[in-house]
Order: sequence, then C-alpha cells, then structure tokens
Amino acid sequence: MRSKSQTSNGKASHNTEREFGGTLGAVCIPIFLPLTVLFLICVNRSPDAALLQWPPPLPSLDQLWNPTAPLLLLGWIALHAFLYLLPLGKISEGLVLRDGTRLKYPINGFHSLCISGALLMLLLMFKAPLGHLFEMMLPLAVCAIAVSFMLSVYLYLSSFWAPPHALALGGNTGNPLYDYFIGRELNPRIGHFDLKYFCELRPGLIGWVVINFGMLMQEVELRGSPSLAMMLVNSFQLLYVADALWNEEAVLTTMDIVHDGFGFMLVFGDLAWVPFTYSLQAAFLVGHPQTLSPMGVAATITLNGIGYYIFRKSNSQKNQFRRSPTHPSVSRLETIATATGKRLLVSGWWGLVRHPNYLGDLLMALAWSLPCGFSHLLPYFYVIYFTVLLIHREARDERHCRAKYGLAWETYCRRVPYRIIPYIY
Ligand code: NDP
Repeated sequence: MRSKSQTSNGKASHNTEREFGGTLGAVCIPIFLPLTVLFLICVNRSPDAALLQWPPPLPSLDQLWNPTAPLLLLGWIALHAFLYLLPLGKISEGLVLRDGTRLKYPINGFHSLCISGALLMLLLMFKAPLGHLFEMMLPLAVCAIAVSFMLSVYLYLSSFWAPPHALALGGNTGNPLYDYFIGRELNPRIGHFDLKYFCELRPGLIGWVVINFGMLMQEVELRGSPSLAMMLVNSFQLLYVADALWNEEAVLTTMDIVHDGFGFMLVFGDLAWVPFTYSLQAAFLVGHPQTLSPMGVAATITLNGIGYYIFRKSNSQKNQFRRSPTHPSVSRLETIATATGKRLLVSGWWGLVRHPNYLGDLLMALAWSLPCGFSHLLPYFYVIYFTVLLIHREARDERHCRAKYGLAWETYCRRVPYRIIPYIY
C-alpha cells in the first residue's frame, strides 16, 4: 500500500507503507487488544483458567471498577515522572535526527527501579496489603487502557504543532485513524520530558515486576510462604527488567525509539499490555499452585540462563559495534560495508542468525512459563504471543534493513540464511 510521494531530506511526507494491516488494523487492534487484556485477566482468575472455555467468564461491574485504581495508577505514573526528572545518573545522546540534531536522555531508569524496590520494602514494613494487587489487576488494567487511549489522543493532536522533521516517516499518512494508531510524532516531548522514552521502560516495565511481587505476597497470605514456582517466575522476570534498565542506553538505538512514532500502538503496549499480560504467569500461580521437581527447576534455570546469555551477549555486541566499531571487543569481527557508510556484522552472534537477540528472548520466555506446569495453556500465552510478535517484528526490521542497505543486506542474508533459530527459521 503506497500513497503519494517519497520522503526526502528531513521532510515528513504522506508516503508510507502501512503496517499492522493498515486502516483496518488501526481500527480493529485498539478494540481487540484491550479486550484481550481484560479477557486474559478474567480467565486467569477463574478456577478453570481455560482459554477456550465458552462462554468466557464475564466480570461484574464491581470487579472492573474500583475508585482506588485510578489513584494508584496515576500516582505510580507521577512517581516515575518525578524519578525521571531527578538529576541522577548520566545524560546520553540519542542517534542523529533528520534535522541533524541529537536529543538528550536521562539514563536513570535503574535508579528508578531501585527506589521503587526500596519503597516496596517500606510498604512491606508498614504491613501494606500488597497481595491486594491480585484483586486490583482488573480495575488497574481498565484504568491503564483508558490512560492509553487518552494519552494517544493527546499525542495525535499535539503532533500537529510539531515541525515536519519531527514526524515519524511511517506515521504521517494523512489518515487520522492510522496515524493515531501508529503515531505521528517521533519523539514527543513536554519541555525536556520525553514521553516515549519515559513510557518505554519505566511505569509499565517496573509496574510489571511490582504486580509480580504483589502476586507473591498474595501467595504468602493464602499459603503462608511463596512457592518455588512463584519465586522462579519473580526472579527471572526481575532479572529481565533489571537488565533492560541497567542497559537503558541501548533502548536509544532500538526500532521503537529510532523509527516508530509514538501513538496508540506503543502507548498501549508500554502502559497496559506489558504490565498486565506479562504478569499472567505470576497471577496464574496464585490460583493454581504447582509442585516442581528438582530436575525441572534445574532445567528451567539452565534454560533461562542460556537464553539470557544469548540475549545479553548479542545485544551488547551490536550496541558496542554501533557505538564504537573500533572497540577491541568488536574490532576483529568480520563485517560487510553498506552504501550508507555503516557496516553489518557477519560473524560473532550476528553471524549465527540474523536476530540472535530474539532467540535468547524466546528461550527466556519459555523458561518463564515452565514453572506453571503443563496442565494449562494460559501461562504459555506469553511465549506464544511473543513468538508471533518477534516473527512479525523481524519481518518489519528486515524490510527496513533491505530498504536501507539494499545489496549489502542481500549479501548479509546469503551469508547468514537463518532469521532467528539456526537451521530451523
Ligand atoms: P534489534 O536490537 O534487533 O535491532 C535491529 C537493528 O539492528 C536493525 O534495524 C539494524 O539497525 C541493526 N542490525 C541488524 N543486523 C545487524 C548486523 N548484522 N550488524 C549490525 N547491525 C545490525 O531491534 P529490536 O528493537 O527489535 O530489539 C531489541 C531487543 O528488545 C531485543 O533483544 C528484543 O528481543 C527485545 N524486545 C523485547 C520486547 C518485549 O516485549 N519483551 C519487545 C520488542 C523487543 P542499524 O543497522 O540501523 O543499526
């Protein structure tokens, strides 16, 4: 689907290949995905936790709405906005923008995680009922969905005050439904406060591990102590979130920050989808306790360790190479030149498959589901969804790279024929 003219030298134009099913996707996805979040939470709480159960368990109005939920959610977002603004950590520059400038970003997400952890411990000391988060998941998700819609409307409208070079190339089609969904402006800011960068790794991602911890506390309340399965899920996912925040600078070179506009798709993903669907395994364990064998525990920890190792090493290798190609850790790797002046790695992790980081991420995703046993499909929702997401994301990235690097990308694909899983895909 192409329309109007091609983009040139920094000017946003009405030309773009539409993604996620174009206008139809832009209408259906914002209806379908929020309902999916609510559906999954409801099914997870039901004793059967059966995804294919018909009719699905419908929540009462009482379960959907709780006046404390908007206070908790907005308080949480305000706390993280405050922590974002604290002069902690270093300031880093993003990649060069189309107008030749670079934006500055505070690298203090890990500080925010530690402060959030300290605040949780304080709440625990004062015997705050953290396990109550289990009951609050549904009303909190409803509020997060509402906030996502409202923020996306604000972002869409405010983008009309942005200069043309500040618009995302893919989000400026002129179709309001599609542009609202995909995001018009690349880096919307209020003063120095970068809304996309803030939402990417803070309220939702840290919120996810807080919800997990709430599930653990609910288990303690119900059964006296946390189960091994719950501790594994909490630790694995905390490691993942801590890693993302420790390496926060790396987000500045990801597709989300560099390429995608900030619209409903990312807002909803960051604020509603991640915290409320990624915490499904921990929430599942509250109502469906599991007994794990020592062999099962060892195998799951090993799988998570291998996945994490591949994920971290491959991401670090590419980030190092992109930031400083002459660094001793990457300078000996084999590369191919491209017409843009950038080079592509063809050995090391990026010579194994074209997305080794996705491979590691998928192995971890499987390890997060295994502690929930094999009796239900629901705890495997994450790994199934994530496989679909990464296959789609990989295809999007390939399209961008093919357009960017042309022949050099073809050569890379010939040299490294597999996309994510060696000899399989
Ligand atoms: P990637 O980190 O995979 O980056 C893709 C980019 O890397 C390409 O556009 C290209 O950009 C560069 N690149 C590709 N091949 C090479 C090569 N051979 N040599 C050098 N550079 C290359 O992108 P993502 O943003 O998709 O993923 C980042 C991480 O986030 C991943 O680990 C992913 O698993 C994770 N993730 C997690 C999600 C979650 O919900 N848990 C969701 C999405 C991602 P260029 O050449 O312009 O530098």
